[in-house]
Amino acid sequence: MGTVYLVGAGPGAPDLLTLRAAELLRQAQIVFHDALVHPATLALASSAQHIAVGKRCGKLSVAQRFINKRLIDAAGKYETVVRLKGGDPMLFARAQEEIDALSAAGVPVVVVPGVTAALAASAEIGVSLSRRGVSRSVVFATPRVGAEEDADDDWTRAVVAADTAVLYMAAGQAQAVAAALQAAGMRPETPVAVVRNASLPTARSFHTSLAELGAAAEQWHLSGPAVILVGEVYKQADAAGVAASEFSGEHERHAADGTAWWR
Ligand code: SAH
Repeated sequence: MGTVYLVGAGPGAPDLLTLRAAELLRQAQIVFHDALVHPATLALASSAQHIAVGKRCGKLSVAQRFINKRLIDAAGKYETVVRLKGGDPMLFARAQEEIDALSAAGVPVVVVPGVTAALAASAEIGVSLSRRGVSRSVVFATPRVGAEEDADDDWTRAVVAADTAVLYMAAGQAQAVAAALQAAGMRPETPVAVVRNASLPTARSFHTSLAELGAAAEQWHLSGPAVILVGEVYKQADAAGVAASEFSGEHERHAADGTAWWR
Protein backbone atom coordinates (compact mmCIF):
# COMPACT_ATOMS: atom_id res chain seq x y z
CA MET A 1 0.00 0.00 0.00
CA GLY A 2 1.31 3.44 -0.98
CA THR A 3 1.11 6.81 0.69
CA VAL A 4 -0.91 9.75 -0.61
CA TYR A 5 0.83 13.12 -0.28
CA LEU A 6 -1.39 16.19 -0.33
CA VAL A 7 1.09 18.68 -1.70
CA GLY A 8 0.85 22.47 -1.95
CA ALA A 9 1.97 23.68 -5.38
CA GLY A 10 2.10 27.31 -4.28
CA PRO A 11 0.30 30.24 -5.88
CA GLY A 12 1.49 29.82 -9.45
CA ALA A 13 5.18 30.56 -9.95
CA PRO A 14 6.92 27.19 -10.21
CA ASP A 15 9.88 28.30 -8.08
CA LEU A 16 7.63 28.99 -5.10
CA LEU A 17 7.41 25.26 -4.49
CA THR A 18 9.02 23.74 -1.37
CA LEU A 19 12.03 21.47 -1.81
CA ARG A 20 10.01 18.71 -0.13
CA ALA A 21 7.26 19.05 -2.70
CA ALA A 22 9.77 19.01 -5.56
CA GLU A 23 11.37 15.82 -4.23
CA LEU A 24 7.98 14.10 -3.89
CA LEU A 25 7.05 15.08 -7.43
CA ARG A 26 10.32 13.58 -8.62
CA GLN A 27 9.51 10.30 -6.83
CA ALA A 28 5.82 10.10 -7.67
CA GLN A 29 4.39 7.38 -9.88
CA ILE A 30 1.13 9.27 -10.27
CA VAL A 31 0.08 12.90 -9.77
CA PHE A 32 -3.50 14.14 -9.48
CA HIS A 33 -3.40 17.88 -9.99
CA ASP A 34 -5.57 20.99 -9.99
CA ALA A 35 -6.22 23.02 -13.11
CA LEU A 36 -4.16 25.98 -11.92
CA VAL A 37 -0.88 24.15 -11.42
CA HIS A 38 1.94 25.51 -13.61
CA PRO A 39 3.20 23.18 -16.38
CA ALA A 40 6.80 23.63 -15.14
CA THR A 41 5.75 22.33 -11.73
CA LEU A 42 4.11 19.29 -13.29
CA ALA A 43 7.19 18.72 -15.38
CA LEU A 44 9.11 17.93 -12.17
CA ALA A 45 7.04 14.74 -11.99
CA SER A 46 8.78 13.45 -15.08
CA SER A 47 8.25 9.75 -14.43
CA ALA A 48 4.68 10.04 -13.21
CA GLN A 49 1.34 9.71 -14.86
CA HIS A 50 -0.44 13.12 -14.72
CA ILE A 51 -4.16 13.29 -14.11
CA ALA A 52 -6.06 16.60 -14.08
CA VAL A 53 -8.84 16.64 -11.51
CA GLY A 54 -9.05 20.39 -11.04
CA LYS A 55 -12.14 22.24 -10.09
CA ARG A 56 -12.47 25.74 -11.42
CA CYS A 57 -15.26 28.17 -10.84
CA GLY A 58 -17.94 27.73 -13.42
CA LYS A 59 -16.07 24.96 -15.21
CA LEU A 60 -16.87 21.31 -15.33
CA SER A 61 -15.54 19.68 -12.17
CA VAL A 62 -14.73 16.16 -11.19
CA ALA A 63 -16.92 15.22 -8.24
CA GLN A 64 -15.03 15.15 -4.95
CA ARG A 65 -16.17 11.63 -4.11
CA PHE A 66 -14.77 10.41 -7.40
CA ILE A 67 -11.42 12.07 -6.66
CA ASN A 68 -11.35 10.42 -3.22
CA LYS A 69 -11.96 7.03 -4.79
CA ARG A 70 -9.25 7.50 -7.40
CA LEU A 71 -6.74 8.45 -4.71
CA ILE A 72 -7.59 5.32 -2.71
CA ASP A 73 -7.34 3.12 -5.81
CA ALA A 74 -3.99 4.69 -6.76
CA ALA A 75 -2.60 4.03 -3.27
CA GLY A 76 -3.35 0.34 -3.84
CA LYS A 77 -1.16 0.36 -6.94
CA TYR A 78 1.62 2.88 -6.39
CA GLU A 79 4.05 3.68 -3.61
CA THR A 80 4.04 7.48 -3.99
CA VAL A 81 0.79 9.16 -4.96
CA VAL A 82 0.80 12.96 -5.10
CA ARG A 83 -2.36 15.03 -4.89
CA LEU A 84 -1.09 18.44 -6.00
CA LYS A 85 -3.20 21.44 -5.03
CA GLY A 86 -2.82 25.14 -5.77
CA GLY A 87 -1.49 27.25 -2.88
CA ASP A 88 -1.66 25.37 0.40
CA PRO A 89 -3.67 22.14 0.58
CA MET A 90 -5.17 23.01 3.98
CA LEU A 91 -6.92 26.20 2.91
CA PHE A 92 -10.09 26.23 0.78
CA ALA A 93 -8.92 23.11 -1.01
CA ARG A 94 -11.18 20.38 0.36
CA ALA A 95 -8.22 18.61 1.93
CA GLN A 96 -10.29 17.37 4.85
CA GLU A 97 -12.63 15.35 2.62
CA GLU A 98 -9.61 13.66 1.07
CA ILE A 99 -7.83 13.10 4.40
CA ASP A 100 -10.97 11.60 5.94
CA ALA A 101 -11.71 9.34 2.97
CA LEU A 102 -8.12 8.11 2.77
CA SER A 103 -7.89 7.54 6.52
CA ALA A 104 -11.18 5.64 6.51
CA ALA A 105 -9.74 3.41 3.78
CA GLY A 106 -6.58 2.85 5.83
CA VAL A 107 -4.37 4.80 3.39
CA PRO A 108 -1.52 6.78 4.98
CA VAL A 109 -1.75 10.51 4.20
CA VAL A 110 0.98 13.13 4.50
CA VAL A 111 0.43 16.85 3.95
CA VAL A 112 3.11 19.13 2.49
CA PRO A 113 2.35 22.84 2.86
CA GLY A 114 2.54 25.45 0.13
CA VAL A 115 2.48 29.24 -0.21
CA THR A 116 -1.13 30.30 -0.06
CA ALA A 117 -2.57 32.99 -2.34
CA ALA A 118 -2.91 35.54 0.48
CA LEU A 119 0.82 35.50 1.07
CA ALA A 120 1.72 35.64 -2.61
CA ALA A 121 -0.69 38.56 -3.12
CA SER A 122 0.84 40.44 -0.19
CA ALA A 123 4.30 39.94 -1.66
CA GLU A 124 3.04 41.09 -5.04
CA ILE A 125 1.82 44.47 -3.82
CA GLY A 126 4.43 44.90 -1.09
CA VAL A 127 1.90 45.48 1.68
CA SER A 128 2.16 43.53 4.93
CA LEU A 129 -0.96 41.74 6.18
CA SER A 130 -0.08 42.74 9.73
CA ARG A 131 1.31 46.10 10.70
CA ARG A 132 2.28 47.52 14.04
CA GLY A 133 -0.43 49.85 15.29
CA VAL A 134 -2.77 49.12 12.36
CA SER A 135 -3.41 45.40 12.02
CA ARG A 136 -2.77 42.54 14.37
CA SER A 137 -5.44 40.12 13.20
CA VAL A 138 -5.78 38.56 9.78
CA VAL A 139 -8.64 36.44 8.53
CA PHE A 140 -8.83 34.23 5.46
CA ALA A 141 -12.46 34.00 4.36
CA THR A 142 -14.60 33.07 1.40
CA PRO A 143 -18.13 34.09 0.47
CA ARG A 144 -18.44 30.84 -1.43
CA VAL A 145 -21.04 28.58 0.16
CA GLY A 146 -19.43 25.19 0.70
CA ALA A 147 -22.29 23.25 2.21
CA GLU A 148 -26.02 23.53 2.69
CA GLU A 149 -25.62 24.31 6.37
CA ASP A 150 -23.49 27.40 5.62
CA ALA A 151 -25.64 30.49 6.07
CA ASP A 152 -25.19 32.92 3.19
CA ASP A 153 -23.64 35.81 5.09
CA ASP A 154 -21.89 33.90 7.89
CA TRP A 155 -18.55 34.79 6.38
CA THR A 156 -18.95 38.52 6.92
CA ARG A 157 -18.76 38.31 10.74
CA ALA A 158 -15.13 37.28 10.81
CA VAL A 159 -14.18 39.80 8.13
CA VAL A 160 -15.77 42.68 10.02
CA ALA A 161 -14.04 41.59 13.24
CA ALA A 162 -10.55 41.28 11.72
CA ASP A 163 -8.09 44.12 11.06
CA THR A 164 -7.14 42.63 7.67
CA ALA A 165 -9.13 40.17 5.59
CA VAL A 166 -8.16 38.16 2.53
CA LEU A 167 -11.11 36.94 0.52
CA TYR A 168 -10.72 33.86 -1.64
CA MET A 169 -13.12 32.86 -4.42
CA ALA A 170 -14.72 36.28 -4.12
CA ALA A 171 -13.57 38.38 -7.06
CA GLY A 172 -16.21 37.04 -9.44
CA GLN A 173 -18.90 38.46 -7.17
CA ALA A 174 -17.11 41.62 -6.06
CA GLN A 175 -20.25 43.77 -6.10
CA ALA A 176 -22.18 41.39 -3.85
CA VAL A 177 -19.18 40.97 -1.56
CA ALA A 178 -18.83 44.74 -1.13
CA ALA A 179 -22.56 45.09 -0.46
CA ALA A 180 -22.56 42.28 2.11
CA LEU A 181 -19.61 43.74 4.00
CA GLN A 182 -21.16 47.19 4.09
CA ALA A 183 -24.46 45.71 5.24
CA ALA A 184 -22.51 43.98 8.01
CA GLY A 185 -21.22 47.35 9.18
CA MET A 186 -17.95 47.99 7.35
CA ARG A 187 -17.31 51.57 6.34
CA PRO A 188 -17.65 52.32 2.60
CA GLU A 189 -14.20 54.01 2.71
CA THR A 190 -12.50 50.84 3.93
CA PRO A 191 -9.41 50.39 1.73
CA VAL A 192 -9.36 47.41 -0.63
CA ALA A 193 -6.71 45.88 -2.85
CA VAL A 194 -7.34 43.27 -5.50
CA VAL A 195 -4.54 41.04 -6.77
CA ARG A 196 -4.89 38.70 -9.66
CA ASN A 197 -2.47 35.95 -10.72
CA ALA A 198 -0.17 36.68 -7.80
CA SER A 199 3.40 35.41 -8.32
CA LEU A 200 2.98 35.01 -12.08
CA PRO A 201 4.29 37.35 -14.82
CA THR A 202 0.63 38.11 -15.55
CA ALA A 203 0.06 39.43 -12.01
CA ARG A 204 -2.08 42.53 -11.76
CA SER A 205 -3.41 44.62 -8.92
CA PHE A 206 -5.42 47.68 -8.13
CA HIS A 207 -6.47 49.61 -5.07
CA THR A 208 -9.94 50.88 -4.35
CA SER A 209 -12.46 51.22 -1.51
CA LEU A 210 -15.32 49.00 -0.44
CA ALA A 211 -17.79 51.47 -1.94
CA GLU A 212 -15.98 51.45 -5.29
CA LEU A 213 -15.06 47.78 -5.40
CA GLY A 214 -17.96 46.60 -7.56
CA ALA A 215 -17.43 49.25 -10.21
CA ALA A 216 -13.65 48.82 -10.16
CA ALA A 217 -13.89 45.06 -10.57
CA GLU A 218 -16.15 45.55 -13.55
CA GLN A 219 -13.87 48.16 -15.10
CA TRP A 220 -10.83 45.93 -14.77
CA HIS A 221 -12.57 42.75 -15.94
CA LEU A 222 -11.54 40.55 -13.09
CA SER A 223 -10.67 37.19 -14.49
CA GLY A 224 -8.23 34.52 -13.44
CA PRO A 225 -7.71 33.71 -9.79
CA ALA A 226 -7.80 36.83 -7.65
CA VAL A 227 -7.96 37.69 -3.98
CA ILE A 228 -9.69 40.70 -2.47
CA LEU A 229 -7.74 42.21 0.43
CA VAL A 230 -9.63 44.42 2.86
CA GLY A 231 -8.37 46.61 5.66
CA GLU A 232 -6.61 49.80 6.75
CA VAL A 233 -3.19 48.43 5.78
CA TYR A 234 -4.20 48.92 2.14
CA LYS A 235 -4.56 52.65 2.65
CA GLN A 236 -0.90 53.09 1.85
CA ALA A 237 0.14 51.00 -1.09
CA ASP A 238 3.39 52.81 -1.57
CA ALA A 239 5.74 49.98 -0.72
CA ALA A 240 8.87 49.22 -2.71
CA GLY A 241 8.24 48.34 -6.32
CA VAL A 242 4.71 49.66 -6.37
CA ALA A 243 4.06 53.05 -7.86
CA ALA A 244 2.58 55.22 -5.13
CA SER A 245 -0.99 56.18 -5.74
CA GLU A 246 -3.77 58.05 -4.08
CA PHE A 247 -5.88 55.59 -2.19
CA SER A 248 -8.98 56.50 -4.20
CA GLY A 249 -7.54 55.66 -7.59
CA GLU A 250 -6.22 52.49 -9.13
CA HIS A 251 -2.55 52.36 -9.82
CA GLU A 252 -0.86 50.91 -12.81
CA ARG A 253 2.17 48.92 -12.00
CA HIS A 254 4.46 48.10 -14.84
CA ALA A 255 5.96 44.68 -15.26
CA ALA A 256 9.68 44.35 -15.94
CA ASP A 257 9.01 44.15 -19.68
CA GLY A 258 7.12 47.44 -19.61
CA THR A 259 3.63 46.10 -20.13
CA ALA A 260 1.06 47.89 -18.05
CA TRP A 261 -1.08 45.92 -15.63
CA TRP A 262 -4.78 45.58 -16.14
CA ARG A 263 -4.54 46.27 -19.82
N1 SAH B 1 -5.56 26.38 -1.64
C1 SAH B 1 -5.46 27.63 -2.37
C2 SAH B 1 -6.81 28.31 -2.50
C3 SAH B 1 -7.79 27.57 -3.37
S1 SAH B 1 -9.32 28.44 -3.57
C4 SAH B 1 -4.43 28.54 -1.69
O1 SAH B 1 -3.97 28.21 -0.58
O2 SAH B 1 -4.08 29.56 -2.26
C5 SAH B 1 -9.02 29.28 -5.10
C6 SAH B 1 -8.88 30.76 -4.84
O3 SAH B 1 -7.55 31.07 -4.44
C7 SAH B 1 -9.12 31.63 -6.05
O4 SAH B 1 -10.50 31.86 -6.26
C8 SAH B 1 -8.40 32.91 -5.65
O5 SAH B 1 -9.19 33.65 -4.74
C9 SAH B 1 -7.21 32.36 -4.88
N2 SAH B 1 -5.99 32.26 -5.70
C10 SAH B 1 -5.35 31.14 -6.08
N3 SAH B 1 -4.21 31.44 -6.77
C11 SAH B 1 -4.14 32.78 -6.82
C12 SAH B 1 -3.20 33.71 -7.38
N4 SAH B 1 -2.10 33.29 -8.01
N5 SAH B 1 -3.45 35.03 -7.24
C13 SAH B 1 -4.53 35.47 -6.59
N6 SAH B 1 -5.44 34.65 -6.03
C14 SAH B 1 -5.26 33.33 -6.15
